[in-house]
Amino acid sequence: MIDYNIFTKKSIYRTLVRMKKFQVITLFPEMFTGVFENSMMWKAQRDEIVQLRTINLRNFGIGPRQQVDDTPYGGGDGMLLKPEPLFAAVAEARKNDPTAKVLLMTPRGQRWKQSIAQNWSESDHGYIFICGRYEGYDERIVSLVDEQVSVGDYVLTGGELPAMTIIDSIVRLIPGVLGGESSAQIESFSDGETLEFPQYTKPAEFEGMAVPEVLLNGNHALIAKWRADHSFKAE
Ligand code: SAH
Repeated sequence: MIDYNIFTKKSIYRTLVRMKKFQVITLFPEMFTGVFENSMMWKAQRDEIVQLRTINLRNFGIGPRQQVDDTPYGGGDGMLLKPEPLFAAVAEARKNDPTAKVLLMTPRGQRWKQSIAQNWSESDHGYIFICGRYEGYDERIVSLVDEQVSVGDYVLTGGELPAMTIIDSIVRLIPGVLGGESSAQIESFSDGETLEFPQYTKPAEFEGMAVPEVLLNGNHALIAKWRADHSFKAE
């Protein structure tokens, strides 16, 4: 008898692609619940395409107060994340995914962009994210890190928003996560520079503003030309 179950999306992915693991080391795991438990990120976990997991750095804190931070040598304002809890948390994450690459969120890292998201969505290993907090982290953590990544030339309060941004941009490119398989391929930056054309949905007229006539007439050649004319290059 033919086992029709073999044709279901779930089992195809289980057979062909190893579930990709994203683990985030953070002092604020609850920040991730809204992002990980909704919409496409939730669906990607349900379909066993990805595993999204937070690791609470506090659990690796030192002493009865589970201390994770301390003052910087040489003086200066603010606190830094101590090395011992960070090293222990990375070791814990590696137990769950020995081939994972370790990423450090830092304004000093290479700038995140769509082409890196595309490459990383195709890799056959998982990722461990380290989220800095306060004034940052003890530099010795860098000895465990494969890549340092920045989301832009501005300073955030912690690495959590950068980690969410990076995870979101990778996960949506993994085959099977978005509805139409091509929907990620024709959008902004997919060639590194082009920004998507404007789009419209129903109604055809709204508060005196009409949808461009060419998009309503079903002439695919004219529509393709209009879209090409209205796409432009990013700076
Ligand atoms: N004192 C540091 C900033 C610390 S911000 C400096 O001047 O560079 C606290 C943490 O937030 C950082 O350690 C880093 O993990 C994260 N972070 C802040 N801005 C970021 C950015 N643009 N990209 C990635 N991570 C960032």
